Amino acid sequence: NSNNSNNSNNSTTNQLLFKQAKAHIPGGVNSPVRAFAGVGGTPVFISRARGSKMYDTEGKPYIDYVGSWGPMILGHAHPHIIEAVKNAADDGLSFGAPTTFETTVADKICELIPSVELIRMTSSGTEATMSAIRLARGYTGRDKIVKFEGCYHGHSDSLLVKAGSGMLDIGEPSSKGVPADFAKHTITIRYNDPQAIKDCFAQFGNDIACVIVEPIAGNMNMIVPTQEFHDTLRAECTAHGAVLIFDEVMTGFRVGLQSAQAHFGITPDLTTFGKIIGAGLPVGAFGGKREIMECIAPLGGVYQAGTLSGNPLAMRAGIAMFDLLTAEGFYDALSEKVVYLTDNLEQLAKDAGIGFKTTRCGGMFGMFFTDGAFDNQLPQNFEEVCQCDAQKFAIFFHGMLDRGVYLAPSAFEAAFISSEHSQEDLDATLQAAKEVFSEMA
Ligand code: PLP
Repeated sequence: NSNNSNNSNNSTTNQLLFKQAKAHIPGGVNSPVRAFAGVGGTPVFISRARGSKMYDTEGKPYIDYVGSWGPMILGHAHPHIIEAVKNAADDGLSFGAPTTFETTVADKICELIPSVELIRMTSSGTEATMSAIRLARGYTGRDKIVKFEGCYHGHSDSLLVKAGSGMLDIGEPSSKGVPADFAKHTITIRYNDPQAIKDCFAQFGNDIACVIVEPIAGNMNMIVPTQEFHDTLRAECTAHGAVLIFDEVMTGFRVGLQSAQAHFGITPDLTTFGKIIGAGLPVGAFGGKREIMECIAPLGGVYQAGTLSGNPLAMRAGIAMFDLLTAEGFYDALSEKVVYLTDNLEQLAKDAGIGFKTTRCGGMFGMFFTDGAFDNQLPQNFEEVCQCDAQKFAIFFHGMLDRGVYLAPSAFEAAFISSEHSQEDLDATLQAAKEVFSEMA
């Protein structure tokens, strides 16, 4: 892999730690994208993080644009969150019985997201999407589900068909080990293509239990789809009695306080959440229309459960998170940082003569090396993302990492900012990018 030449950052310490990790952990990691498969080289082992920065085991700081893949919208180790978690821990870690903290989180989400009338907590985004799909099937009595090429909804069987995220780094968009009998119920169509939705419903019409979609895609780099795409999706689902599931595990409370559904003015039937609502603790949730949610046990016959679901640490961290997200101007300030960063990155790339585009919404953004791809336009679907230059991204990634900027180690992931990223952080990031672009030119 020629990317291995981009390995100057990686200290012998990280190499040694990676070797030790590989002794008893498959590939040395507990989630594939952490292995740097998409960019080559050795992962950085993190020992602690605070605010906008993570520190490796040798104390080297990195300005972090991964934010644990989204949750750390308040930066790392925010004092308000840490205090909430410490207090929660003092009171006991898990009860397997109801708490008022669960009620508070449910009330909060239902208040902020009008499409959500009832909500159930899980321990991960994967459980949330898996459960939402079972619920949609139970509610409609149908088997088929529709997803979009390049969208990732966690690692349950039915959803690992033409999926995004780390699946793309290993060059296998569909997972081995998923029985063909499962996969045959998953129809995959092109993202951001209204005609593909119409064709799909024309063909499979009333057999479709649900459509699951990342309303803004963040697992094939980042794509903000057209309004027409979402309007068509809503209209076709309604016309055919299919459940529309917005997977807002990533976009929920990330692109705005009312999430991507408010951005497009769409009312989905079900929504899944994760990441931010647990402030960095393991959490997920699915919720939506009362009539559908009432099909869940113990009210209805669709079973769903979890030993640690609604865990008090995660709930109290989530409550503390919402205290700060709902502060006046929080998302405006976040967006301003992203706009400043992405506008200046594009300008620096242009000055260096490099084909490079960015996309953004609220506190997330995407970066594409578009030279030779399609006249420097923004990619609109998975196929076009694949035409971008992943090799150039790998060089950029390692150049930035060397200079203390931690980007997602893959050309197929979005980037995340936090409220704690300072002007100094943004300018240091731009200075690093200027140097890397000039080396690449
Ligand atoms: N859905 C989306 C849109 C995601 O981005 C992710 C994870 O990145 C998931 C679902 C799965 O969540 P988890 O990794 O918590 O299982």
